[in-house]
Amino acid sequence: EEEEKPSHDFIFRSKLPDILIPNHLPLTDYVFHKFSGDGDGDSSTTCIIDGATGRILTYADVQINMQRIAAGIHRLGIRHGDVVMLLLPNSPEFALFFLAVAYLGAVSTTANPFYTQPEIAKQAKASAAKMIITKKCLIDKLTTLKNDGVLIVCVEDDGDGVVSSTDDGCVSFTELTQADETELPKPEISPDDTVAMPYSSGTTGLPKGVMITHKGLVTSIAQKVDGENPNLHFTANDVILCFLPMFHIYALDALMLSAMRTGAALLIVPRFELNLVMELIQRYKVTVVPVAPPVVLALVKSPDTERYDLSSVRMMLSGAATLKKELEDAVRLKFPNAIFGQGYGMTESGTVAKSLAFAKNPFKTKSGACGTVIRNAEMKVVDTITGMSLPRNKSGEICVRGHQLMKGYLNDPEATARTIDKDGWLHTGDIGFVDDDDEIFIVDRLKELIKFKGYQVAPAELEALLISHPDIDDAAVVAMKDEVADEVPVAFVVRSEGSQLTEDDVKSYVNKQVVHYKRIKMVFFIEAIPKAVSGKILRKDLRAKLETECSK
Ligand code: ATP
Ligand code: MG
Repeated sequence: EEEEKPSHDFIFRSKLPDILIPNHLPLTDYVFHKFSGDGDGDSSTTCIIDGATGRILTYADVQINMQRIAAGIHRLGIRHGDVVMLLLPNSPEFALFFLAVAYLGAVSTTANPFYTQPEIAKQAKASAAKMIITKKCLIDKLTTLKNDGVLIVCVEDDGDGVVSSTDDGCVSFTELTQADETELPKPEISPDDTVAMPYSSGTTGLPKGVMITHKGLVTSIAQKVDGENPNLHFTANDVILCFLPMFHIYALDALMLSAMRTGAALLIVPRFELNLVMELIQRYKVTVVPVAPPVVLALVKSPDTERYDLSSVRMMLSGAATLKKELEDAVRLKFPNAIFGQGYGMTESGTVAKSLAFAKNPFKTKSGACGTVIRNAEMKVVDTITGMSLPRNKSGEICVRGHQLMKGYLNDPEATARTIDKDGWLHTGDIGFVDDDDEIFIVDRLKELIKFKGYQVAPAELEALLISHPDIDDAAVVAMKDEVADEVPVAFVVRSEGSQLTEDDVKSYVNKQVVHYKRIKMVFFIEAIPKAVSGKILRKDLRAKLETECSK
């Protein structure tokens, strides 16, 4: 049936002008363009610092290793379009293999190394992975896949940069890097070929395989770091910290590949551990610290930040989940030399918004905003019921359009069609608004809003209030079914050590600060808030917990 069309859309764009994006190039050509014949990059500068060992790889090292590994996996049978699974913790090898697979025109599907055997098997089968790149300590989880004919390549580092071979029927990294890079003819790659297939976080349901093309990823990187006034100003002098998981799009696109495009150094850390991270910032004079809200929370609540010299940090960016103004203000105090801002994106959409405080010629921005829509893209906010686009300061579902979007979900044309409409708009499922200065504020996810009678309550707002209490280390809010109100907000709270805080204390603290329908009805004390490694609260796990609590 015919839909009633509004006469015009309210469309928001970046304050930065559009630029020419060379998205006809294969990803690795684009990323290393600075270091090719016509670039001005110096290949002897540092590309990767291995935070675990101190080993350094220059831009020349990274490119030659990329080509050797590409030749090596080609010799093992990997061809254009084949899928290779990366099952690795953050490490230089993760970067090298990702680049090698891209160089070949093959596809990397990235997986969380902490996944269980069935979770890995599911993703490997769904994506039809022919090869899995992993570490020795994870091999036990791959026995069945190996028996089914999937090739297993084992990357092992003995600590001083020498890679040793393994003897359990898997191909070793050494064998691969001994391949002759000149034996591989340069593969033909089309801009619409898939290059990466990460999975979304699984915050709202099952994780979905997202097909990202060369063109999409090149566009997304360029939107951030290219142009005379780049929105995200990384330079060859930067040392960019990377403890956020590289299998997730945020670290892959906005950190690893964006750092390489600009000639910066990427300091790779296998996992987040607060004191280790602060020690590394001090040792390597880190200039850029990308974080997610749980890290901001840890920094704000930590008494140890005083013990380290963190003054080299000039930029701190948060993304992946809502960060409210209060927490942002608190972390600024700890990093007075740093510009703090947010980015907002999805696996499916690349970066949607980035703070213009990070631009080479920065703009003034507000605390709590998640940025301004990226350049070379369009954004609109639509009414969730009528689908009509909304003007400034009105909340609705954020939609985005541009060449950075995914090609689609793997083997799921219906889900793809539900997400990207026939006019090319990707519907994010996030509720937010654009203010008078083009800054975007995320209210919450559409699916997470609590419906109290007709009113909408955003869990994120109540969570911000809860963690502002000195005796609360962390908190999450979910909906509980209610006969009268339909849904009411209830809180899970992590008390700080030694605290005697009671349910009534929590309720009275929050409830005197909010309108009646936002009042918290129950409080459950809990050891830790379940979160995805990407930093998002797993509210579905809490809802399940709530059900068991209530049926007791
Ligand atoms: P799934 O789609 O599998 O349920 P997911 O949506 O959490 O999981 P991702 O692609 O990792 O998977 O995350 C994208 C989502 O992260 C966005 O839709 C948004 O809800 C949230 N997000 C990212 N950045 C921000 C930000 N700065 N502020 C608020 N939310 C953010
Ligand atoms: Mg999602």
